[in-house]
Amino acid sequence: MNSPVLEAVGLTKHFRVRGKSARHRAVVHAVDDVSLSLYAGEVTALVGESGSGKSTVARLLAQLMAPTSGSIRLRGEETLVKRGKPFRDYVSSVQLMLQDPFGSFNPVHTVGHHLRGVLNIHRRGQGKVAEEAAIDELLREVSLTPSTQYTGRYPHELSGGQRQRISIARALAAGPDVLLADEPVSMLDVSIRLGVLNLLAKLAAERELALLYITHDIASARYFATNTVVMYAGRLIEGGPSETVTQQPAHPYTQLLIASAPDPGRPVAPVPPASSAGLGTPPSLIDPPAGCRFHPRCPLAMDRCKTDVPPKFTLTGGHWAACWLHEKSENAASVAPAEQPRGSQSC
Ligand code: SF4
Repeated sequence: MNSPVLEAVGLTKHFRVRGKSARHRAVVHAVDDVSLSLYAGEVTALVGESGSGKSTVARLLAQLMAPTSGSIRLRGEETLVKRGKPFRDYVSSVQLMLQDPFGSFNPVHTVGHHLRGVLNIHRRGQGKVAEEAAIDELLREVSLTPSTQYTGRYPHELSGGQRQRISIARALAAGPDVLLADEPVSMLDVSIRLGVLNLLAKLAAERELALLYITHDIASARYFATNTVVMYAGRLIEGGPSETVTQQPAHPYTQLLIASAPDPGRPVAPVPPASSAGLGTPPSLIDPPAGCRFHPRCPLAMDRCKTDVPPKFTLTGGHWAACWLHEKSENAASVAPAEQPRGSQSC
């Protein structure tokens, strides 16, 4: 088995709320005990609803903020960087692509200026001719040709899809091994999303990129990612091969997530609708529910779910779920971190 390029091990991030009252001295449990492995040439989808902590995981992996606890391993070595050359070196290996392609560009600079800026930082001293050749090649890779039509344009002169392709080219300019794509198509018209996803998949395969695809759209994860992990209220709750997670979801939350996504060919959802649980909104992360964080919304919740955090139970073929319903499953067994199946994670 290949070794992971980038690993999160027990990553936890708590934010202290500023203020004088008791509530304002509270702590937001944004991410708790997240472990995740990204492999060269593979796409891993991190799926969850808004506020589940997905983007915080991306920012932790990009080392834009320090974790409260846990570690990040790049090619097997624990890596904690804050600024200066170590941070630049890390960023040249691990690139973060943001959701809003317009907001991530300086509107007064051209496409060529943005790409040259990254090349000057990460491929310094290559000379003007080589630099222009690199820009031409980057734009060709993201299917924006001829490059001369784009290098002199400003961000507002591009369509949303073209801007996101420039975002991808800018990330590639650093020569990364890992690309963290945070909702890369959610701000694009539906008609052009598929083209950008196909481009990302092609680049991951051709460049042997370890790609983390962060999305709230579990249907696109099935189409696009090799492995899928599902996040709820700051914890990972299910993971495994995308086909299995999306076609045979084991966790009630994943089942409800899939039931809410339009798919005419899907079999009937195996659990009652969320409304039957009486509560339809995610919990506050300032005071998250004890036990399983999904229990206030879960139609299948049992007494122990309110007090005991479910460990992850292995099912079959690298599939796992953090849910007490699977404790007595024939194939179930708690997974020690060292035994984690490929692309899988702890809750
Ligand atoms: Fe529902 Fe309990 Fe499973 Fe949580 S552990 S998803 S509350 S059955």
